[in-house]
Amino acid sequence: MIELAVIGAAGRMGKRVVSLAAESDDFTIVDAVDMPDCPDAGRDVGEIAGTGTLGVKLADDFSGNPGVAVDFSLPEGTMKYLPLCRKKGVAMVIGTTGFTESQLAEISDSADDIPIVRASNFSMGINLLLKLAGEVASSLGEDYDIEISETHHRFKKDAPSGTAVAIAESICKATGKKYDEAAVFGRSGSRPRRSGEIGMHSLRAGDTIGEHTVYFGNLGETVTLGHSAHTRDTFVRGALRAAGWICGRKPGLYGMGDVLGI
Ligand code: NAD
Repeated sequence: MIELAVIGAAGRMGKRVVSLAAESDDFTIVDAVDMPDCPDAGRDVGEIAGTGTLGVKLADDFSGNPGVAVDFSLPEGTMKYLPLCRKKGVAMVIGTTGFTESQLAEISDSADDIPIVRASNFSMGINLLLKLAGEVASSLGEDYDIEISETHHRFKKDAPSGTAVAIAESICKATGKKYDEAAVFGRSGSRPRRSGEIGMHSLRAGDTIGEHTVYFGNLGETVTLGHSAHTRDTFVRGALRAAGWICGRKPGLYGMGDVLGI
């Protein structure tokens, strides 16, 4: 049985992590943390998630001895619990998105001491799409314009989505481009499209869970790769799979491709 800590346990993703981990025979939840001023602070985390009493209260520090912490919070939440996990030797599965370069460097540095899986998207389909997008871009070549669009719910804080950035980075890696130079965010005005740029477009509407589309267009055809997530549980199942996989691994920074073997 894997002893699990859930970071951001009162959030949309955190509640589903609690529910699916509680249903599983592989996990036992020993800690659940969120903001100290969270309205649910001190309540039983199973009751918050709607799965019945689990005997673990929502806190802002670890009191048990988790083997793995699954984090879906905000970058500030990840950066608060990262040093604690490092000190206690707790493996991490990080699903939070929107990190700065220096925060990413700190995560990478911590992976010298603990195993960490970080993925901006834990779905199997998106991880396959990440691989395919790079392959399609390098096969089609420079004559195909690349545009990425993503749609998420109105509450999402970061834009473009971490997944859209990961898709663009995968394309850049496969084609020898630099993301910072190639990415263009939204379009307005009268500037013509430059060859080689990657257009990034973010839509925020209603309760859309997550949609990503990559367009490869030239003067005659468009190739489209797309993915729609119908439920957050898709990501949660992937994160719990990563939590099972990471137990007992050597320290290091892993991706979902490592977990899935693709
Ligand atoms: P949410 O706002 O519903 O939940 C976030 C939770 O984290 C909240 O309960 C909030 O109080 C808590 N939190 C914020 N700061 C904290 C801190 N300093 N300490 C402790 N807790 C803190 O958001 P969500 O929709 O559940 O998404 C959470 C994150 O997961 C976002 O970054 C989102 O982009 C990401 N996400 C990733 C994937 C993936 O597959 N990797 C999938 C969905 C969402």
